[in-house]
Amino acid sequence: FDFGSDTDEEELVKIDYVEEVRGPLHNSSTDTLECDLVIQTSGTPKTQFRPRYLIVSDFAKQHWCEMQLLYSLAPEIILLRAVPGEEVKLEESETSKAAKGRGSDIHLERELEVQVPVEVIVETQEDKWAVKLINLQQAVLAFCRGQRLAREVPVFGCPFGEDIFVFGIIDELCYDPDRHEVEISELKTRRSAHPPKKKQQDKDKYQVNLYAQLFNELVLGSVNKSMVASHLGLNLDTKLSSSVMEHVRDVTTGDVSEVCTFGHLLETVLSQVQSLCCIKRSRVEYIQQDDKSEILVLDFLLDSDSLRHMFMEQCRWWHGERGTTGVDIEDCWKCEHCQFAPLCEWRDFMAEKLSKGKKK
Ligand code: SF4
Repeated sequence: FDFGSDTDEEELVKIDYVEEVRGPLHNSSTDTLECDLVIQTSGTPKTQFRPRYLIVSDFAKQHWCEMQLLYSLAPEIILLRAVPGEEVKLEESETSKAAKGRGSDIHLERELEVQVPVEVIVETQEDKWAVKLINLQQAVLAFCRGQRLAREVPVFGCPFGEDIFVFGIIDELCYDPDRHEVEISELKTRRSAHPPKKKQQDKDKYQVNLYAQLFNELVLGSVNKSMVASHLGLNLDTKLSSSVMEHVRDVTTGDVSEVCTFGHLLETVLSQVQSLCCIKRSRVEYIQQDDKSEILVLDFLLDSDSLRHMFMEQCRWWHGERGTTGVDIEDCWKCEHCQFAPLCEWRDFMAEKLSKGKKK
């Protein structure tokens, strides 16, 4: 099944935003805290932009620049800063769009090496999530049958017990049945043949660690039926459509005596995933887009403590418990590549802070 590329993850969220964002946004207040910029919006970022669930990419973007994430979620905020009558272009550059397209193609090529996409007709929201469950189930059962590699594997849950549901799609999982070990790997494609800066590497490591945490919490049984149903607003008793059931049969090779509702499928998959083991080691692989040559491979151990610290701090923003921050002074090189730089409020805020500091 091919419902799991990063692009699909993004599209899913855009649809949610269009459907579910409530009320106009405004920046009537620019009240400042010690180091945060408070932009007044109606409701918390979570209730406004992601009322049901967030995706792992949200947190990766937030790790890079929270202000940039906010502007991408609500361009209305930055457009209010434009001089009336002046044309504003906040579009991503064509080069950047082309690079993303090339990156998606390479991901798809890799996926096709191990699985063939199948079209599934979905009739309800429960069907839509059932397809994600089937994709996860397919990976779990493949490992149980001795396969060592799975790509585009969905994971979900509420990391560290937070009241925030997160969904993501793991690029690659490798299973070693002899050592009963699972390793996660994330592929990053680059236009440049040079290794990414350390801050980029940090962001990518954080993203992989968050995927690993979601996977591990599934394995440990921390995700339950009611958690999934309540966060996503799904009905566990909804019967799956015939098209989805057909694919459940394909994946489970016919053993579907109990599976006919979303709740049954969810229970089955949550139980099956617990037969695996937790991820301890992670990898990020950077390749050049044109010739696919290797640029850099980062191997590291999952660091749950630092992940938790960063994740909780990010959640405080989603819950509206603190204001929005942009990049640190030493990271202002990031702004050179940012489409929002010409109108970014954070840059003015930091410039003002710096000039006040100099006067003192
Ligand atoms: Fe963040 Fe800089 Fe872009 Fe502002 S200009 S959103 S601080 S990266």
